[in-house]
Amino acid sequence: MGALEQIRDRGEKLPRASRSSLVQIQGARAPESVREQRASLSQSSDKAALLEPIRARVSVCVKCPHLARTRTQTVFGVGNPDAELMFIGEAPGADEDRRGEPFVGRAGQLLTKIIETMGFKRSDVYIANVLKCRPDMPPGSSGNRPPTPVEMQTCLPYLAEQIDIIQPKVLIALGATAVEGLLGTRGVMRELRGKWHSHQDTPLMITYHPSYLLRNQAPSEKRKVWEDMLQVLERLDRPITEKQRNYFR
Ligand code: URA
Repeated sequence: MGALEQIRDRGEKLPRASRSSLVQIQGARAPESVREQRASLSQSSDKAALLEPIRARVSVCVKCPHLARTRTQTVFGVGNPDAELMFIGEAPGADEDRRGEPFVGRAGQLLTKIIETMGFKRSDVYIANVLKCRPDMPPGSSGNRPPTPVEMQTCLPYLAEQIDIIQPKVLIALGATAVEGLLGTRGVMRELRGKWHSHQDTPLMITYHPSYLLRNQAPSEKRKVWEDMLQVLERLDRPITEKQRNYFR
């Protein structure tokens, strides 16, 4: 029989507590919101461990039944949970769906090159997408499609949780879908890129998606992305070599 049942059966009106328990109870702080708890935890504790339960929830998510049916697996995110820099893309493509890791196809190889040219290893930064499932395609058709607004709204809370835990110094939105996910607006990339924006007090740089650079091979477009990355390095107080400064000049 539990302690409370014993008290009830003895007909006592009030549960008794020892003096030390009372002191403990009185000293206990009011419950914080999950977000506040997470924010204070992420200052000091193991961010990788905080991400794991979210990864587990994502891996069995069926909120978009059509995507849950057609995906090979979910694609949560990859990299350093303590990263200063976090890249946000759109959604997994076929390669990512197969491998379970964001940005591993052609666009991913280009992104990795950009990261390394910035002086980071891919494993130094964190990479995630707005959508954790590959957007389904009609049977027999290849290629990718952008997420629908409903798919984005459904999946975005997972990204918000990842950002809350990682708390990067700078976020980079790759392309229009990431911008829409982070800022809630669909703007003109030409006007948005290369400027500082803010996502819940975290500085946000907007640049072109690497797939755009693969489609449009003009050196002028690569140079724009590189100039955006130089602004990010400056914001992070990272040293910039002459060679880095003069790429694409
Ligand atoms: N494009 C994206 O936006 N994300 C990926 O993971 C791969 C390609």
